[in-house]
Amino acid sequence: MMLKTENKQAAKSPRIKSVWKQAGFVDESIPLGIDVKAEIRRMAKEKNAVIMAHYYVDGEIQDLADFVGDSLALAQQAAKTDADIIVMCGVHFMGETNKILCPDKKVLVPDLNATCSLAESCKADEFEKFVGEHPDYTVISYVNTTAATKAFTDVVVTSGNARQIVESFPQDEKIIFAPDQNLGGYINSITGRNMLLWNGACHVHERFSLEKILDLKKEHPNAKILVHPECKGPVVRVADKVGSTAALLKFAIADESQELIVATESGILHEMQKRCPEKTFIPAPPNDSTCACNECNYMKLITIEKLYNCLKYEWPEVKVDSEIAQKAIRPINRMLEISAKLKL
Ligand code: SF4
Repeated sequence: MMLKTENKQAAKSPRIKSVWKQAGFVDESIPLGIDVKAEIRRMAKEKNAVIMAHYYVDGEIQDLADFVGDSLALAQQAAKTDADIIVMCGVHFMGETNKILCPDKKVLVPDLNATCSLAESCKADEFEKFVGEHPDYTVISYVNTTAATKAFTDVVVTSGNARQIVESFPQDEKIIFAPDQNLGGYINSITGRNMLLWNGACHVHERFSLEKILDLKKEHPNAKILVHPECKGPVVRVADKVGSTAALLKFAIADESQELIVATESGILHEMQKRCPEKTFIPAPPNDSTCACNECNYMKLITIEKLYNCLKYEWPEVKVDSEIAQKAIRPINRMLEISAKLKL
């Protein structure tokens, strides 16, 4: 699957093979005998590239990165980096956000197929129509949207600042919240708002099994349950702590409990275990029987090999149409300004 934002410049480059363009990543074996991780760090230094990683990518990539964070922290970091190249080890909308914030920098993602089921659930043309049908509404969109969808938005939020940004509007403000209906429903429930919700969801957070979480709680009665607000209401309601990935990490570090059941993408357990080696982190399982933990298929497309090749060839590059970028930058900057004011 290829995206419209495919690097046109790279398309002209003789070094980028058509089979790679078809694949959406550089499909080349790593030279035998090299220390891949050392080579990645060497190339990053030589090219003045910063490697950013989301908490949901594999732990070994997090360990290699210059900066690891959730969506809010990654956007804040991109806005102030002085690197020439940003390598975004995460999904495509994160690369787009970086490119919009840093139009003069080269932004790379190791695999263009790393999209997001939540972003895909809110197509820009359908969203434009919906927004057009509600002209007196303020439009709040989650950062997990494409740049084209952000272009129809008044202010972007992440799970780390959504509540505070919603509350920064008057109580009677008419608001559209998109695309995550679970996060929107959760914010409605804690703020007493009645925001109009887009019917989107994340394939990872939707499939946590309440029954299996309650079974785990019986096995570990002293464990605290940590839940991301993209999960369905019944799962959120059994949580001891509901919060963004960064907020759950902060809670895990500060709380005295020694066992924690974690209902968000299991990649965060890497940082939790690193920061709290003495504690036991138990991934909450999905509602099918295939795996004990719940992973994002898209985030897991990012591998060390693809990162190596991406830096080597400086491809795939993320491009955002300039007209869309001009519209999308406003709601992103608005989020960063409100977050800075609220010290988030
Ligand atoms: S975990 Fe869900 S919201 Fe996050 S990138 Fe994957 S599909 Fe998108």
